[in-house]
Amino acid sequence: MIIVMNPNAAEEDIEKIKRKMKSLGSEIHESKGKNYHLIGLIGDTSGIDPSQIQANRNVEKLIFVQEPYKKANRLFHPEKTVVDVNGRKIGGNEFAVIAGPCSVESEEQIVGIAEDIKESGATFLRGGAYKPRTSPYSFQGLGDEGLELLKLAREKTGLPIVTELMTPDKIGKFVEDVDVIQIGARNMQNFDLLKEVGKTDKPVLLKRGMSATIEELLMAAEYIMSEGNEKVILCERGIRTFEKYTRNTLDLSAIPVIKKYSHLPVIVDPSHAAGLWWLVESLSKAALAVGADGLMIEVHNDPANAKCDGQQSIKPERFKELMGTLKEMAKFVNKEM
Ligand code: PEP
Ligand code: MN
Repeated sequence: MIIVMNPNAAEEDIEKIKRKMKSLGSEIHESKGKNYHLIGLIGDTSGIDPSQIQANRNVEKLIFVQEPYKKANRLFHPEKTVVDVNGRKIGGNEFAVIAGPCSVESEEQIVGIAEDIKESGATFLRGGAYKPRTSPYSFQGLGDEGLELLKLAREKTGLPIVTELMTPDKIGKFVEDVDVIQIGARNMQNFDLLKEVGKTDKPVLLKRGMSATIEELLMAAEYIMSEGNEKVILCERGIRTFEKYTRNTLDLSAIPVIKKYSHLPVIVDPSHAAGLWWLVESLSKAALAVGADGLMIEVHNDPANAKCDGQQSIKPERFKELMGTLKEMAKFVNKEM
């Protein structure tokens, strides 16, 4: 339930209503703008009598929220959320580009790629240090050493780093070392992990599970936000369908749907969606056209010898060309790059 207050209501009248709602067992989520003042009620609202609230002269109206996600709901927060990562923005009019290899392999590799993508205009560096691989015999990432190499690449280029957290025991290290904590598709419903990142104040990039509905993705965001961390960036990375020509099926309609129902920024990962390097350019352009707030693209200097996901990685030269095209396109969709 959302109480829409009269924007001119006195502070003490607002406090009175909030106190009353809390005493009836509800948690409060307040949202204030130039011309609005909303008091969102979360949790058990069964003890609240709507007609009593409506009797209050400072209340303009009541909105009943049907969706199970509250803090992630646009009704609770009419303005778009813009996540600030050390001065770089994700959301609003900005179009963020996160690029880099699937996994960190060596100093030369990660620093070289970071320098190349920076020159092309990427705003964040990605790279897995702890990798969620389908096979236990595949390369599992360099672990702590990978994280050190990412830090080195950040030092050399100034690009903030985005990397995946797989287990709660590494959270302290991630909070200290990383700029954006990535939660991968396979962990989208690892609720303990979600709650742990929710207790930090680090921006979280939450990827859609490969068989997750949009509502399940938003509920996963709600897990993070309900612990206090509202810096959540969603990522559409393709879902499982019967189609076999692509690794996953990029659900482009998820972007406008999420934008309609949520205030959170949403980016697209065309690399994991397609699973094929030659599809990355078309899907990136489609993502920008459909209203995404950014992209996460796998870039590798030597895809044929990559330790992970070489088949879907583009080379730095191609990335540069793609960035040029996107910059031109961005002008037509009111995005800044
Ligand atoms: C990744 O970004 O490296 C990754 C493993 O992606 P996803 O979780 O979407 O499969
Ligand atoms: Mn990958």
